Amino acid sequence: MTVTPVIDRETLPATSELRQREPLIGLGRPEIAAGLRDLGVPERQIRMRVSQLWSWLYVRGVTDFAAMTDIAKELRAELAERFTLEPPAIVTEQVSMDGTRKWLLRLEDGKEVETVYIPEADRGTLCISSQVGCTLTCSFCHTGTQRLVRNLTAGEIVGQIMLARDRIGDWPGAEADDQRGLPYAERKITNVVLMGMGEPLYNFDNVRDACLVAADGEGLAIGKRRITLSTSGVVPEIPRWGEEAGTMLAISLHAVRDELRDQLVPINKKWPIKDLLAACRAYPGLSNAKRITFEYVMLKGINDQVADAKALVRLLAKIPAKINLIPFNPWPAAPFECSDWEQIEKFAEVVNRAGYASPVRSPRGRDIMAACGQLKSASVKQRASERLATSA
Ligand code: SAH
Ligand code: SF4
Repeated sequence: MTVTPVIDRETLPATSELRQREPLIGLGRPEIAAGLRDLGVPERQIRMRVSQLWSWLYVRGVTDFAAMTDIAKELRAELAERFTLEPPAIVTEQVSMDGTRKWLLRLEDGKEVETVYIPEADRGTLCISSQVGCTLTCSFCHTGTQRLVRNLTAGEIVGQIMLARDRIGDWPGAEADDQRGLPYAERKITNVVLMGMGEPLYNFDNVRDACLVAADGEGLAIGKRRITLSTSGVVPEIPRWGEEAGTMLAISLHAVRDELRDQLVPINKKWPIKDLLAACRAYPGLSNAKRITFEYVMLKGINDQVADAKALVRLLAKIPAKINLIPFNPWPAAPFECSDWEQIEKFAEVVNRAGYASPVRSPRGRDIMAACGQLKSASVKQRASERLATSA
């Protein structure tokens, strides 16, 4: 495992310096247009200027207005006074033995979140965070032990994609920042999953705005079919997400009985399995080609019996579904263990026989605590030390 400090915390720009300018990343076209109008750009030029900016930002990934050579110098200077282009700062980068990368990012206010890149033979998946910490307290999840600090802005969410593209040389013509000899040319970001820190449907508007920017065909162009939002089951927001964002959906199911799900995923007490599945059935555009993914974490002796597998298959019978069995990823002092491999295979066998292909997700980046549910930034600890410093 390697931990590479990328930026010394002390050398990051002072928060006050950045705050006076508005981040451009994450704004929609109408907001950029409004900003340009404010700067006095004539109405007949607005569309073209928005397109130019959009393309510099999201097709070429430039981080300096000075590089935008088809925009008049004067306007570039005015833009630079009004907007920032910086994605969140990378504090550390860790590379797993399996090529998975995890970045610890520092936001403008000093809070920290994590982003994970998972290269596979036929795709590259970026797992992004939607909140600092999480208000929910799923008992098997490390992030759930961290008190929510705040929602991420749309810019901070899109910014995670931008900096990952920077680091892996994923802009057209970009040179890979490669000190480790990984064949980046084959490992571009093709998919984005909202499976990092936080419950994305509790930060609905910002996550939606960010997904719409990411999916824009003239920019980052990560199609909606390649973006997956994972939710623990915020039932009333599911239909709205379908209408307003329309990405792929993943549901953290993890149990087939309410009694157990109440304990594992406490939001189940508010919206039980029956209501959750009804919302899934009604999700717009479902078909065999557009299925909902059901995530099921394998917890030894808790939810991993063959009877559970049979009940799972029955429960999902009429929904176009994929099933993802996730071996539990341990974290310090976690109250669960991962099911034995033999048991996972028995469980998977039942699921397989019911027609679900390759249901077990192999854990990635466990050695750098980058696997599902292992993310937990140091924001809380920092706050504690800050408090101590203030009281001293
Ligand atoms: N809050 C959202 C998205 C982030 S969690 C949600 O809960 O869906 C992404 C996935 O990782 C979820 O399915 C979550 O249940 C799962 N997960 C959490 N902790 C885990 C752990 N320790 N091992 C394996 N999967 C875990
Ligand atoms: Fe939050 Fe998801 Fe973790 Fe539950 S599993 S605590 S919803 S991040």
